[in-house]
Amino acid sequence: MELAGKHLQSRVVNTVDSPSGHAYPIHVITLGNPSPDVPAVGYFGGVHGLERIGAGVVIAYLQSLVMRLHWDSTLHQQLDNVRLVFMPIVNPGGMALGTRANPHGVDLMRNAPVTAIESVPFLVGGQRLSAGLPWYRGKANAPMEIESQAVCEVVKSELLSRRFSLSIDCHSGFGSSDRIWFPYAHKRAPIAHLAEIRALKNIFVHSHSHHRYIIEPQSLQYLAHGDLWDYLYQHATQQADRIFLPLTLEMGSWLWVKKNPRQLFSRHGIFNPLIEHRQQRVLRQHQSLLEFLSRAACGHALWLPIDEARAIHHAQALQDWY
Ligand SMILES: [Zn+2]
Repeated sequence: MELAGKHLQSRVVNTVDSPSGHAYPIHVITLGNPSPDVPAVGYFGGVHGLERIGAGVVIAYLQSLVMRLHWDSTLHQQLDNVRLVFMPIVNPGGMALGTRANPHGVDLMRNAPVTAIESVPFLVGGQRLSAGLPWYRGKANAPMEIESQAVCEVVKSELLSRRFSLSIDCHSGFGSSDRIWFPYAHKRAPIAHLAEIRALKNIFVHSHSHHRYIIEPQSLQYLAHGDLWDYLYQHATQQADRIFLPLTLEMGSWLWVKKNPRQLFSRHGIFNPLIEHRQQRVLRQHQSLLEFLSRAACGHALWLPIDEARAIHHAQALQDWY
């Protein structure tokens, strides 16, 4: 943050108290044009305290931007046309404790006021039985946790204040392939901006021919209560002239475990690559995706489908995913 000097702004959105008496700040860091007339991209990590690699991927991208500031003139042109918003560690208390949940035992991805109507998988889909069990949603009708509120505040002020915005929230732990998920998580129905998601997928796939991501709605894998991105997406659609496309990167950690089965015996090992060369590869691998999102936001007017093209994208997306 210091190295970026005047090019970067940062503030502490809120502070989380942990049982050990420590207070952990939730930082938000911004770069690029602050004008509400330019699009924005939000980069989020560390929502689940155990998934340190997600925070690592976001910080690696931020570091690359900062180190390029003093020599890369095309980066400055890019930053004139986009706002970049970083929350690398949404759940610093959970990260310090080495838990998925926050210090209250609440899973921040099950904590938003969104309830699935169709049945969700037992426990994993979110539960209100006990904070001692994983995937705890928090008490019914209680306000959202401080960390969830911090994300909402930043998304509403920095992203939804613009006509076009994207976000990516970096996680690990599901399956052996890297996945990019889009809403919904709480129902199988398609989102209103399915055509825009498919157009975004197309420009990504066409410009990254060797990518290894599976791109799909989260509902194809499992349904869950309380998904924060479902909640914020639905909130965003109240403004008809705005487009907000929230993505989740789910890095497939089962592969890391398969290649190094000893990781199974470590709590961190199931969610993070423990061998150094593998960790470096993972940190490297996703940088082009994060950079792509910044460029896709800059150029959104060139690829967002309208009229008939939009209808075609929508119909094709229904066929591909639903
Ligand atoms: Zn996660």
